[in-house]
Amino acid sequence: MKITFLGTSHGMTEKNAFCATAVVSIGERHYVIDAGAPLGTLLQNYDIPFSGIRAIFITHPHHDHFLGLVDLSSLVEGFRFQNVSIDVYHPEGVPIAKMYDFLYDGKIESQDSERLHYHLYQDAKPDGDVIFDDGVLKVTAIPVEPYVPHSHAFLLEAEGKKVLFSGDLHKDMPDYPAVLEQTDTPFDLVVVEAAHSVLTGEPVMAHFRATKTKRLIIQHRNPRRNTDEMMEKVKEDLAPLYPVFVIGDGYSIEL
Ligand SMILES: [Zn+2]
Repeated sequence: MKITFLGTSHGMTEKNAFCATAVVSIGERHYVIDAGAPLGTLLQNYDIPFSGIRAIFITHPHHDHFLGLVDLSSLVEGFRFQNVSIDVYHPEGVPIAKMYDFLYDGKIESQDSERLHYHLYQDAKPDGDVIFDDGVLKVTAIPVEPYVPHSHAFLLEAEGKKVLFSGDLHKDMPDYPAVLEQTDTPFDLVVVEAAHSVLTGEPVMAHFRATKTKRLIIQHRNPRRNTDEMMEKVKEDLAPLYPVFVIGDGYSIEL
């Protein structure tokens, strides 16, 4: 499994950086976690074919996590790309129908789209609900509580590996997914956001110390709240437990 981060930024604070968007590649199959970046444009820039995208998963209904769907639809549907069939899994609150009104003014309706197929997933149970399993990748949505309702972290399982994307979490992370601390087998990777909490604070560091993982990636960082110096401190403090990577756009990792 390879994960390529097309966008890692908090979005409002940096030049030439895009919001949270990651592509999980398993062989020729590609899956997208969040679409905060102009997704169609960046997939082309990274030579990831639209026809290879099986599914897109949106963690929560905030524009910096779904706005990239506008760019993707405008390319693959506005310009009628062939051999594209992508399932989009989204929670309540993502304004899909409004997006189609805006783009096509009634000429294409979201439910009639031939290329992007939308699936609303309901708020998950506390332990999580499986929202997708194509025999290659299994995705379990785990509820979290940031600033908008219907928000989720995603547990990904493929090729015997376990990865967790935190989505956006509440300040000081009271909603940090419990499975990260309770699991019997360590995660291969945890991807956590750094927009809403001070990571060097004790509530967050206590979660990080209790996390069972082989590595941790920090993305979606607000550099004013979590400075470079603070990130060095997090890396140093956790070094005895696991390596921490503070990443930027274009970073990729093979698991
Ligand atoms: Zn966000």
